[in-house]
Amino acid sequence: MTRTGLSMDVSTATKRTVLISGASISGPALAYWLHRAGFAVTVVEKAGALRGGGYPIDIRGTATEVVRRMGVLPRLRDAHIDSRRFTFLAAGGSEVASVGAGAVAGSVEGQDLEVRRGDLATILYATVRDDVEFLFNDSIDVLDQSGQDRSGQGVDVTFRSGRRRSFDLVVGADGMHSQTREALFGPEEQFHRYLGYAFAIFTMPNTFGLSREVVLWNTPGKAAALYAVGDNDELHAFLNFHRPEPPLHALRNPDAQRELVATVFADAGWKVPDMVDAMRDADDLFFDTAGQMRMPHWSSGRVALVGDAAYAPSFLTGQGSSLALVGAYMLAHSLATHRDHTAALAAYERDTREFVAMNQVLVDKGSATLFPTTAEALEQRDTMLRGLVTMPSATARPAHSALTLPEFGRP
Ligand SMILES: Cc1cc2nc3c(=O)[nH]c(=O)nc-3n(C[C@H](O)[C@H](O)[C@H](O)COP(=O)(O)OP(=O)(O)OC[C@H]3O[C@@H](n4cnc5c(N)ncnc54)[C@H](O)[C@@H]3O)c2cc1C
Repeated sequence: MTRTGLSMDVSTATKRTVLISGASISGPALAYWLHRAGFAVTVVEKAGALRGGGYPIDIRGTATEVVRRMGVLPRLRDAHIDSRRFTFLAAGGSEVASVGAGAVAGSVEGQDLEVRRGDLATILYATVRDDVEFLFNDSIDVLDQSGQDRSGQGVDVTFRSGRRRSFDLVVGADGMHSQTREALFGPEEQFHRYLGYAFAIFTMPNTFGLSREVVLWNTPGKAAALYAVGDNDELHAFLNFHRPEPPLHALRNPDAQRELVATVFADAGWKVPDMVDAMRDADDLFFDTAGQMRMPHWSSGRVALVGDAAYAPSFLTGQGSSLALVGAYMLAHSLATHRDHTAALAAYERDTREFVAMNQVLVDKGSATLFPTTAEALEQRDTMLRGLVTMPSATARPAHSALTLPEFGRP
């Protein structure tokens, strides 16, 4: 079907139903565009409410155009964090360099946005909460595409709560460790590309007098960062360390995570001992490995994946939220344009994959220089930083804008 046929298609046919699993970034963005295209949308989220969590994320390049088309750019500009400086510290805590924050993050001043992840999720949710059905505190238990209930016409879903419903399509927007992906394609390990680091992130009291700035302490293979998001007490602590093999034993065990991080940073200087103490008490500790999802296909039958579930690029690229927003737009556009779901899902992959690939390879092009793993690499970076009077302003990376969004047909 051509794009010009879209409005006729929606008004004359019964609404197609879509279940989206996950209400963070890609889920609500997809819900918005599918609702606009005339779909009846349900979103199921395993948490009891929209999840806050204030660590900063970036919206850049093509993703900025997605949020502009959603009409939320002014609200996101209001939520923009606008950090003042980024200070690098040596092992003993002395200053190596202090530079403009945007340049370090690879963001273009005045164009790219940095907002708390929770603020972005809240703003996206607000665009659809009155038009879309949200089921909090529930999740998909069983997906059945065999069509016993509906003669092969849809997906029969049994939820953990016990409710049962059928949908024309199901989309997993349930993040890096997606259960939808596991149900469709099997264990995560097949698609996970480990990038050599594990990290812990948590909030702690801002007893250091930091304000709208990032301070990063490094020794080879270890990094500790404090990120003061506003002028108030909000302080995000980040402990990142190099490991040739992923510490799998710690992944689902918070006690093991605390122990591992405390052991790795036991002899560290600067404020790290305070950070490790705060980590032990933190009730919002998030621990994971740095990694990417690389999949040969993003859908099977009537079930598709979007965002981190399909193509997480890792925090080292700073592009996870942007890929989630652009991917949601492209998937909705393909489903709105092609009535046949097989053609739609093929078009989604065909038109989005190169953009994803360009952003995922950013990790191989120096994105990890914030976290050098050898004394030589750290010395080189610090020499480079000391030689700078001011950090050159970032220029837009071509990968960030490497996709031109197609026009969405009018509903
Ligand atoms: C520490 C850290 C730092 C980061 N820094 C940046 C950065 O600087 N810049 C950037 O752009 N990105 C960054 N990211 C990545 C960014 O957060 C993600 O790429 C982005 O949030 C992906 O959005 P998503 O909606 O696809 O998945 P997620 O945000 O992971 O959301 C998944 C949602 O699904 C829900 N869910 C999970 N399982 C189920 C289930 N079984 N049933 C129902 N619901 C379920 C979850 O509760 C969650 O709400 C960072 C990530 C981390 C962890």
